[in-house]
Amino acid sequence: MHNASFAADGLDFVYVCLDVDPAALPAAVKGAAALKLRGFNITMPHKRAMIPLLDELDEGVRISGAVNTVVIDDSALRGYNTDGGGMVMACREAGIELAGGRVLLLGAGGAAAAVALAFGAEDVGELRIVNRSVEHAIELRDKLREAGLKKVEAYPLDALDDAAQEAEAIVNATPLGMKDGDPLPVPVEHLYEGRAICDAVYRPGRETALIRESRQRGALAVAGERMLLYQGVLAQQLWTGREPNVKAMDAAIS
Ligand code: NAP
Repeated sequence: MHNASFAADGLDFVYVCLDVDPAALPAAVKGAAALKLRGFNITMPHKRAMIPLLDELDEGVRISGAVNTVVIDDSALRGYNTDGGGMVMACREAGIELAGGRVLLLGAGGAAAAVALAFGAEDVGELRIVNRSVEHAIELRDKLREAGLKKVEAYPLDALDDAAQEAEAIVNATPLGMKDGDPLPVPVEHLYEGRAICDAVYRPGRETALIRESRQRGALAVAGERMLLYQGVLAQQLWTGREPNVKAMDAAIS
């Protein structure tokens, strides 16, 4: 999607995928700076390990403990997390009003934290975090409160039904749905008309079961591909300092 945007707008950039072994990450990053690259994305399993190698971190990285975008400026490395902003833009595209809304967030890892922080910046009314390990949900709740989010609560998985009460939007930020046969992250009775269901999980060329079931039940579904697109749009803005060609990016991943 990045190359499609560069080509459409005649920009002299190229985006390539490089497979870096965990032990070689510091050398790879030093090399990127030495080669005067403009920046790069980081994906699993390096999103956390990248942090000590950076000179500056944005708030999304500090809270989530995960970096997905790096900009290299005069060999200084600046780390960003555009995942949360990507989900906000995907929600906006779908017409979901976040300000004042009640949101149930499933998961408490890097993506969940980035989404929580970005939703907080959108003045979400109330955020309820449900996670398999409740201690991780509590840890995230405390970090978010420290960052200024007031109405945030943490729940264990067995309190999901209670936590889902009155939520206008549910966000799946667990990896459930990545593999065939994964259970739904929420029981189907929570997927109904008028409720927004946002999935961070994406499967190229395929709908996740959560998105399929949500659409069948008339819920407003936001697929992980939309979050992927917009986290990329935000990353490209950081690298080029200009508005990316979103249409070309969208066409490239659709
Ligand atoms: P992560 O940091 O490893 O966090 C995973 C979270 O999901 C943790 O809270 C974990 O709970 C929970 N979890 C893991 N397996 C589970 C299971 N079987 N049942 C219930 N909960 C489970 O991962 P992440 O980086 O946040 O990524 C989460 C998902 O978001 C991935 O599928 C990733 O591909 C996707 N993502 C998508 C985009 C996009 O652009 N669309 C961007 C970023 C991430 P514990 O605390 O108990 O371990």
